Amino acid sequence: MFYKKCITISIIVFFVAILFIPNFVQANDNDGIYQALLAGKRIVKDRDFIQEEKPTVYLTFDDGPSSLTEEVLDILKEEHVKGTFFVLGQYVENNKEILNRIVKEGHAIGNHTYTHEYKKVYSSFSVFWEEIQQTEKLIYDITGVRTSLVRTPGGTYKNWDSFYFYYMDQEDYLIYDWNVDSGDSKRRNVSTEEIIQTIKQSILSDKLIVLMHDGTGHVNTVKALPEIIQYYKDLGYQFKTLSEKVEPIIHHSTPTRWDREDEFAAHLQFVRKIPPVLVTNQSDRLRKENNEDLYIKNMLNKQLILEEIIAADSQPINTTVEPSIHSVISLPAVYTWTLTKLLLLLPLSKTFSPFLFFDL
Ligand SMILES: [Zn+2]
Repeated sequence: MFYKKCITISIIVFFVAILFIPNFVQANDNDGIYQALLAGKRIVKDRDFIQEEKPTVYLTFDDGPSSLTEEVLDILKEEHVKGTFFVLGQYVENNKEILNRIVKEGHAIGNHTYTHEYKKVYSSFSVFWEEIQQTEKLIYDITGVRTSLVRTPGGTYKNWDSFYFYYMDQEDYLIYDWNVDSGDSKRRNVSTEEIIQTIKQSILSDKLIVLMHDGTGHVNTVKALPEIIQYYKDLGYQFKTLSEKVEPIIHHSTPTRWDREDEFAAHLQFVRKIPPVLVTNQSDRLRKENNEDLYIKNMLNKQLILEEIIAADSQPINTTVEPSIHSVISLPAVYTWTLTKLLLLLPLSKTFSPFLFFDL
């Protein structure tokens, strides 16, 4: 009889323990990933990319669509080459026809945020994310194309930290910097000749992603374009559009020039899909109380804050809560401890009570 009970209880304990597995794995993963990202490490999914057999150039045009985009499209059409347009959400609505023409003529569209305002999009990932979503929806509503190609304003260099890379990668966006800068936006009115010279002096490789601009004011880029195309044609390059199959070129660097806050809160928000309001409230509340120390302590005590946010829901957050068993004892330990307790205590107890297990 006693052994039968033991076996039954063992089975119950086993299944209860299994229920905890997702929590352990997720909590530990979050913590480990957060630490790695904080240390500046890149965490990326494994992806398959194509290897072009011929040297390939990817012409890219940023900051449009504008009236110049049509001139760029005319040139590309005439030269029978394709390009990629990283558009700004704010200009998309008033240039629907141009956007549709880009798609119709076989070019690719990429997302370049909505406002292009560095101070906004690099203030926190959630702001950047909102702009990407907003622009993506606009592009989709107009063209029916949902793009996963992204170029961040000014490029990732000194702007993106490992968190930006990680979140975007997790959501399957592909980020493209460039390895040839036409220099057409290094100051106002860069001459056509200078743009062409900059291109010609750039280092060649089998895969070139060329940065140019088709936003308002870049008349000289349009003028330089036919000669740029001819230059690459003469060198034997083929012209292609960017796609998910093209391995990104990125200029990853840490630290960034931006002093971002709330990274752990943002991290949790992303990985746990916690509504932004909850996370914002927490950090705001702690700061409003002028309690920077407590805030920092909680930032460091990530496991604790994780437990709190999960438990908090709409209740006030108790910042002094002790770490729960979830965060301090591993799964095998819970199992062994419970089983040991059961075996020790059961012979002493004439009537078995299931509550035996719950005073850990
Ligand atoms: Zn730009």
